[in-house]
Amino acid sequence: MELVFATNNQHKLEEIQQMLGDKFKILSLSDINCFDEIPETGDTLEANALQKSEYIYKKYNKNCFADDTGLEIAALNGEPGVYSARYAGIEKDAEANMNKVLSNLTGTSDRQACFRTVVSLIIDGKEWQFEGKVDGSILTEKCGMEGFGYDPIFQPDGYSISFAEMALSEKNKISHRGRAIVKLIEFLSNYHD
Ligand code: IMP
Repeated sequence: MELVFATNNQHKLEEIQQMLGDKFKILSLSDINCFDEIPETGDTLEANALQKSEYIYKKYNKNCFADDTGLEIAALNGEPGVYSARYAGIEKDAEANMNKVLSNLTGTSDRQACFRTVVSLIIDGKEWQFEGKVDGSILTEKCGMEGFGYDPIFQPDGYSISFAEMALSEKNKISHRGRAIVKLIEFLSNYHD
């Protein structure tokens, strides 16, 4: 079965294709000639993931899945959450986003946070969702150079280093996205139509 992953992130595509084997062929957005700016106007991760998968299913009539991720900080009432990519205003400005988090948490001792990923899968018009979550805390300063986004200020529980100080293979084993993708893969491996 062919499945479209609503992304053009080559790393995410290769990783999942490798985990799935040859029962499913994963196609990227560019593979189906989709160069649209897919709307993400929901106010939850669940709504955004569904909005993206539904967009592809309706427009291209192809089975597909989409993911959406947010950093949820307890002392900030779950912010930046669904707005993680554009928390400081400009899309995907990781430095500005991290600075805003650090400044909003100045003097706050409760540093609890989690990364959460929701994957929305649509096969033949029916939707399933899979969640992956990693608990941790927000550091008081940026540490490490690996990864992307908020990695330098997020330390997963049980570790004394940030995500940005971890090898990618190590991060993938415990990360929000890794855990959501494992659930998706388990489901697909047992799927019979
Ligand atoms: P997306 O839904 O995967 O595009 O993620 C939305 C935003 O969440 C990204 O732009 C990053 O700011 C942040 N984010 C997602 N995944 C991670 C991660 O693994 N580490 C750090 N930040 C992340």
